[in-house]
Amino acid sequence: MSQEYTIAVLPGDGIGPEVIAEAIKVMRVVETRLGLKLNLNEQPVGGAGYEASGKPLPDDTLKAAKSADAVLLGAVGGPKWEAIDFSLRPERALLGLRSELGLFANLRPAKVFRALTEASSLKPEVVEGLDVLVVRELTGGIYFGEPRGVETLPDGERRGINTLVYTESEIVRIAEVAFDVALKRNKKVCSVDKANVLEATGLWREVVTDLHKKKYSAVELSHMYVDNAAMQLVRNPKQFDVIVTTNMFGDILSDEASMLTGSIGMLPSASLGGKTAMYEPIHGSAPDIAGQDMANPLATILSVGMMFKYSLDREDVNTVLENVVESILDAGYRTKDIMSKGMKEVGCKAMGDLVVQAL
Ligand code: ATP
Ligand code: MG
Repeated sequence: MSQEYTIAVLPGDGIGPEVIAEAIKVMRVVETRLGLKLNLNEQPVGGAGYEASGKPLPDDTLKAAKSADAVLLGAVGGPKWEAIDFSLRPERALLGLRSELGLFANLRPAKVFRALTEASSLKPEVVEGLDVLVVRELTGGIYFGEPRGVETLPDGERRGINTLVYTESEIVRIAEVAFDVALKRNKKVCSVDKANVLEATGLWREVVTDLHKKKYSAVELSHMYVDNAAMQLVRNPKQFDVIVTTNMFGDILSDEASMLTGSIGMLPSASLGGKTAMYEPIHGSAPDIAGQDMANPLATILSVGMMFKYSLDREDVNTVLENVVESILDAGYRTKDIMSKGMKEVGCKAMGDLVVQAL
């Protein structure tokens, strides 16, 4: 009996549909080669969702996502929808999906492919072979804490307020994700906080330390203040394996880590926590290059790899896809975003075809 999976495929806007089309080609090959059945349930999201139903996250799209084994998303947003009401903006679909699916853990690997070592803004020896994973808490912290807002004081001066809140159970569940993935990697976790200034992150440090003692002594745990972590990431990034941190610190550090690799078009991500996880490239809808067959589809194809690893229990597929990408880069093929002298420039579709051929 062949295994059967349902994947909600949400192409979205801009280059989203272009990179998703290549990912679908790749999934079809994997399906045939492994003798699986993949039911791909394609639904509009973001600006496309708004056009189709007046909402960035249409009811049918949410239903498809909730009932799927995994969600694969392209990208949302674009100039066309910048002027509409905040609650109807394409980006709201992401917040809606995260909260409806209970996705509290965002995993962003920053990996430097051998052939792209020179693309980094850092010295080759600093980033060569770099493979860091940032685990960011996604549904709590200062982005969601109450009270929040802007109020006017009696004397007319305005005051802006946001509140950093973490409960013990929120910290435990994100730390568990980080320790669990570290066990499958190099067994090192660095927990990043600002425990010397912020009480909520003092609790963070305490809870992570306790959990480590109780359940994860096989993993090496260290702690770092966020300012130091930001510095260490550019000074000596290879000291890190898994970094686990709060929503806001993770937002910043994961962008910093991704830039060490030199290309936004190469990096996948996973959001885990609930029954159904979501996978997407870290880049946006790139309206400046949409519709020109120029986008790099590899971040999305590597997101498919993460989907097989974390949702479909087929880590081998992820390994194969990573190796295929490595070999295509070694052979000198590049999309425009990672192009350098002497290399062979290809478009989005041709890059997808190269992956299909190599598979
Ligand atoms: P968002 O707010 O959705 O994150 P953004 O404008 O901040 O959007 P992107 O849409 O990711 O960021 O685009 C940033 C730059 O990177 C653009 O110049 C875009 O063309 C380029 N870019 C993004 N993704 C890719 C890709 N897959 N291939 C090639 N270039 C890309
Ligand atoms: Mg952006």
